Amino acid sequence: MGKYGLEDKEFGFIVVSTRRGMKNVRTCVKKGVIEMHVPPGIGYDELRRVVEQNRERLRLMLARAEKNGLRYKVGDVVRCLDGSSIVIGVQSLCPGKAIMGECADGNFYVNISQEMVFSDENVINLISRCLKSIAKRKADAVIIGMAQETMAEIGVKHCRFIIGSGLRKLGHCTPKGEIQLSYNLMFLPRHLARFVILHELAHLTHFNHGSEFHDLLNRYCGGNERLWNAELKHFNWPVRM
Ligand SMILES: [Zn+2]
Repeated sequence: MGKYGLEDKEFGFIVVSTRRGMKNVRTCVKKGVIEMHVPPGIGYDELRRVVEQNRERLRLMLARAEKNGLRYKVGDVVRCLDGSSIVIGVQSLCPGKAIMGECADGNFYVNISQEMVFSDENVINLISRCLKSIAKRKADAVIIGMAQETMAEIGVKHCRFIIGSGLRKLGHCTPKGEIQLSYNLMFLPRHLARFVILHELAHLTHFNHGSEFHDLLNRYCGGNERLWNAELKHFNWPVRM
């Protein structure tokens, strides 16, 4: 059995493994990455054709895997961009509800009612919504502050930042040079949030995804564009898409 990879513009790195005796291509998703099991001797062109033909199905498989992947439990700690944490727990004060708030030390909590079940899809959605609303509260100060620092670091003079709500689309740059950043950046480690900001700042110079854009972005990233891009693609979001 041999293992190699295929780079796809939408799905990123696809793991390909060959198995003797296989007749057809089989696909699965593991930890957010697509894996293809193929008969030996199959070429890259053929693989690309298979990916193209199954693009819609692969997208669904990924979405389903992501959905199934999200689970919370008592004591889970969700780290935020500003260094604070959100701790997930249970409470018995308000039956049937989730309560959330800030602790004296600046960290936050989300406590669900003790009779709620963590594996229940509705409970997962409820916790996810609570986490997002905490992120939203802090987003203006934290993300815009970071964006302004980043802008100064690379020598960009004028730019207006606003906070948006995308998860699939974490940032957006308008032709007028206004940059929208998702409050969900609050859930990313610092270098990845900075990467999203740098991506949008690079659009102020090149309003497309051409090679000049990537050269500039890679320079902004100190040569880490591909690495950070892959990390971002495979990041395990602590909230629902
Ligand atoms: Zn872009």
